Amino acid sequence: MSSPNLPFDAIAIDGPAASGKSTVARVLAERLNLVMVNSGEMYRAVTLAVVQQGVDPCDPIAVANLVKAIKLRCVVENGGSQILLDGEYPGNALRSDDVNAAVSAVAAVPEVRHLLVALQRELLQYGDLVMEGRDIGSVVFPATPYKIYIEASEEVRRQRRAAEGQMDSVGDRDRQDSARKTSPLVVPDGAEVIDSSQMVIEEVVEAVLGVLGARGWFDRESERNLP
Ligand code: C5P
Repeated sequence: MSSPNLPFDAIAIDGPAASGKSTVARVLAERLNLVMVNSGEMYRAVTLAVVQQGVDPCDPIAVANLVKAIKLRCVVENGGSQILLDGEYPGNALRSDDVNAAVSAVAAVPEVRHLLVALQRELLQYGDLVMEGRDIGSVVFPATPYKIYIEASEEVRRQRRAAEGQMDSVGDRDRQDSARKTSPLVVPDGAEVIDSSQMVIEEVVEAVLGVLGARGWFDRESERNLP
């Protein structure tokens, strides 16, 4: 079990920006009937509030004060988690250029991480889930055996974002995410590393299913049903 108190398990998918994590997690969620959680959207929602309220993202005290003042709620709808910022769905605003540019600074603030990690762990009450992010296998669910780290070369990741029409300095974000003191981007202990640079999504999904199978994911149902 990923949590000693709950009967559900978490699959943790970590990796740098644009490595293909979200797409792979979405396909896995559909195939295995899991709750899909994109934890980056939670950091983006806090960052949107920072941008909207004109707070300096590089001022950790101001960001910590703001995160105490806003209302963040996470709900599960249609098999996926949705974040609400002060009661509203932020939608495409989460992917604006301003949010892309500020999110890594905001995500480095310990008070932000503390709040969001608690929200993320609560989601396990809804069922087996796949959660993707930067610290899922290392911090959010360190006890899960189902840990995958998906990487791809910086050039490939830059091209993927450009093809989506987004202004996003993935290399800069990764350097900030890897260098921060609190919960940096790392390959979690026990994670299987998959390099997706030369793979299409279906191949990555197959590779992940292979890892899950080898680690006993598909044996859990029969174990749960034993008297
Ligand atoms: O996954 P996505 O690229 O949308 O994440 C946006 C940013 O949120 C990352 O660059 C990182 O700074 C932060 N993040 C994080 N920890 C997570 C998920 C995202 O620090 N678990």
